[in-house]
Amino acid sequence: MWAEPILHVDLDAFFVEAERLQDPGLVGKPVAVGGTSNRGVIASASYEARAHGVRSAQPTATALRLCRDLIVVPPSHGRYGELSARVFEVFREFTPSVEGLSVDEAFLDVSGLRRHFSTSTEVALAVRGQIRSRLGLPASVGIASSKFIAKLASEAAKPDGYRHIPKDTELEFLHALSVEALWGVGPATLAGLQRLGVETIGDLAELPEAAVVGSMGPTQGRHLLDLARGIDHRAVTPDIDAKSISVEETYDSDLEGIEVIETALLAHAQRLADRLHRSGLAARTVTLKLRFGDFTTVTRSVTSGTVVDGPRDLYLIAIGLLEQVEVDRPVRLLGLGGSGLEPAGEPRQMPIGAEGNWARVDEAVAGVRDRFGEHSVEPARLIRGPAPDD
Ligand SMILES: [Mg+2]
Repeated sequence: MWAEPILHVDLDAFFVEAERLQDPGLVGKPVAVGGTSNRGVIASASYEARAHGVRSAQPTATALRLCRDLIVVPPSHGRYGELSARVFEVFREFTPSVEGLSVDEAFLDVSGLRRHFSTSTEVALAVRGQIRSRLGLPASVGIASSKFIAKLASEAAKPDGYRHIPKDTELEFLHALSVEALWGVGPATLAGLQRLGVETIGDLAELPEAAVVGSMGPTQGRHLLDLARGIDHRAVTPDIDAKSISVEETYDSDLEGIEVIETALLAHAQRLADRLHRSGLAARTVTLKLRFGDFTTVTRSVTSGTVVDGPRDLYLIAIGLLEQVEVDRPVRLLGLGGSGLEPAGEPRQMPIGAEGNWARVDEAVAGVRDRFGEHSVEPARLIRGPAPDD
């Protein structure tokens, strides 16, 4: 149900799986990505290799001793970054509330999808399915009421699985785990806890606060006790992508009909303009994103010769992009973004006849329905002059 809206999505043996996409001969074999020299270190190991005790951060020489058949592949870093970006694109198609932890791991708060899926577990399955079908990569997902339980749940789900921890069973799940599994417990803290006789998270939860605070100090002591008791109020904090600014909305009821979508785009253009203005930026590229009820997603972009940041420019560009999309199904999500960002207020080309253009722009905004046949303005030709509203 929806008492557990936090997903922790973590790809399995990400670098190895990325190499397997390039070389299917590596599938099903003990493979590690890492340094191949004498002093090399393992960065990622397949589950077949892990069965022999191969681990990341292990010297390659040790790994080869543990697993004689181990195939060690040197890392192809550029490719992992590219794949990672595509993985995060999939995440953001589900929710804008994505907090990345590393190249292949993120928290997603999916509470906004409750009208579109019957449970958060269904969202988890859809995310896994999209990553598998579009990128060919396995991912494990933990589903829980809080970030740290979701993270422990995805660990328990590995490899290539999912684990939902219902809120009323989370203490049972949590307390059986080793205290080492708690987020933020490093070797020094672990030694301190072991001196107190703590082995499992359940042991820690039962200690009196004074004992824990006396050993760990008040800040860390109380924090760990809270976690051990299943208390974690930390919200998913979406990443700020400085390379683009966008406005996105998933609608409670799908948008049907072109006019409804255009009206929604008008609101988006205004909000995007506000956000650009607050950041002091203008965009060279504008991207429209539509997701339909069946979760297929379409994006269209245009890059103009000049930067844009006013609501009217953004709206007309968005309408131009919308015309390139076949909108034959109800729309669930609508997004409008600006990238290729530059500081606003840079000197801009002042075209001849700009005033005439602006009159047409005003008209378009005033009457959404009037656009048919009336405005053949090409997005790339929209050259902004000094606008009274920005
Ligand atoms: Mg991973």
